[in-house]
Amino acid sequence: MCGIVGILGQGPVAGSLVDALKRLEYRGYDSAGIATLENGKLARRRAEGKLRNLEALLREQPLNGSVGIGHTRWATHGRPTENNAHPHATDKLAVVHNGIIENFRELRDELIAKGHEFVTQTDTEAVAHLVTEAINHGLSPEQAVAISLPRLKGAFALALLFAGEDNLLIGARRGAPLAVGYGEGGEMYLGSDALALAAFTDTITYLEDGDWVILRRGSAEFRNEANEPVFRAKLKTQASAFLVDKGNYRHFMAKEIHEQPEVVARTLAHYIDFSTGTVRLPFELPFDAKKLTGLTVTACGTAYYAGLVAKYWFERFARLRVEIDVASEFRYREAPLPDEGLMIVVSQSGETADSLASLRYAKAHGQKIVGVVNVPTSTIARESDVAAPTLAGPEIGVASTKAFTCQLTVLAALAVALGRARGVLDAASEQRLVNELMVVPGLLAEALKLETGIEVLAHQLGKATDVLYLGRGTSYPLALEGALKLKEISYIHAEGYAAGELKHGPIALIDEQLPVIVIAPTDPVLEKTVSNLQEVSARGGRI
Ligand code: GLU
Repeated sequence: MCGIVGILGQGPVAGSLVDALKRLEYRGYDSAGIATLENGKLARRRAEGKLRNLEALLREQPLNGSVGIGHTRWATHGRPTENNAHPHATDKLAVVHNGIIENFRELRDELIAKGHEFVTQTDTEAVAHLVTEAINHGLSPEQAVAISLPRLKGAFALALLFAGEDNLLIGARRGAPLAVGYGEGGEMYLGSDALALAAFTDTITYLEDGDWVILRRGSAEFRNEANEPVFRAKLKTQASAFLVDKGNYRHFMAKEIHEQPEVVARTLAHYIDFSTGTVRLPFELPFDAKKLTGLTVTACGTAYYAGLVAKYWFERFARLRVEIDVASEFRYREAPLPDEGLMIVVSQSGETADSLASLRYAKAHGQKIVGVVNVPTSTIARESDVAAPTLAGPEIGVASTKAFTCQLTVLAALAVALGRARGVLDAASEQRLVNELMVVPGLLAEALKLETGIEVLAHQLGKATDVLYLGRGTSYPLALEGALKLKEISYIHAEGYAAGELKHGPIALIDEQLPVIVIAPTDPVLEKTVSNLQEVSARGGRI
């Protein structure tokens, strides 16, 4: 997901829009565009590739409007062409969008049936027509946005500009960040992060998830998801310290947890072509997948648990035997490795010493290396045959959160890609898996809404001295990761177990004092997990 800016200015804003987009370049993008109001009429300039292409276009065909929106796009739906670049527009409005509108197909069909003409492959265009439809029925822009937002599914941020409305911008946030900035003389800004607004102002308000905002010069009116007027505080930011800016959050870890819908969507967009429902790796596999007999995964800590989840996926979707070990063990084991084998090393920093040593051992023993890393310039990235980047952004919190979910995202895409390359996963199954991946950012945003309830639980759990985590299948490594996180952050002793192992020992610990956290999604092993829960509750355990 990329960059959004919006400016309600006093003079021409095109130059400032592009400057702000430049400060968002670090997020990566494949095309860019802006829209302004020229004498009340919408005008757009869009270009493929780098911002200098957009700048060149603007030199030839300048825009002078004093209100506008801009976007750097990281294509998820439709190729990175000029036509698919944002803003997307109708005769009533222009919109820029970060993220994914999951139900765009339904909306598109519905709106086409009502006579709207779609001209791009993007999911975003559905938003433009949806709001336009409401305006065509006589609603004001604000009312039209208010009734349209609840119809959108997924994780996204939006900025909208309306024809004939020289003193209005509307922003909305669900699962992807958005901030309002307050400038001199009533100038107002919208930006997908504080850095985009850094040159204009140091006074900003972060929208809470689900919020939307009506901006006019000198005023910002915030509404929550239920469309109730809400107060959102102004903060002073230190843009220079943006990378260490905690936003609205008390801790970096909390901020990074909340970034997950955005960064997972961003990572997905790097590996998946949503329009065709297929995996599209950003690199060539450096080996013949059909000849692979097995693969070795090595990592430390949380990254190791990501690998352990992926073991289930590589086995199931790519029919590959997986050997996995923590790197601090693997590097000294002198493990025999298969001819023409593959090693996957998972590391957030890409500098984890034991993982690097394991990589070098494997390389010396003829393995091809795929490094799943968050820092593309790291040693592991450089020494791997291919680096598969997670696009989590800087992770400042010591306990890994968003990097973990991004690692899972990349590993899932790799498992599907290997399944296809090995001829063991058919196109229909690939499509089904990709569709399931596509809804993950939206589901993450949903899950984050449980925070208040979880906080209540946390106060109860805080009194415990020990906690047990249980899960089966891919939920088993998640139980291990949950226990690790609890130990690391709360200093409460916790253990993760495969739920089926409960009866082989740990059951002796269960009494009224012991909270048991069970990860039990609706999957083929749910029934079995439920039986384990019965054993726990029979002994008075708190589930
Ligand atoms: N899903 C939208 C598109 O493909 C927005 C992508 C983005 O976040 O830049 O155009």
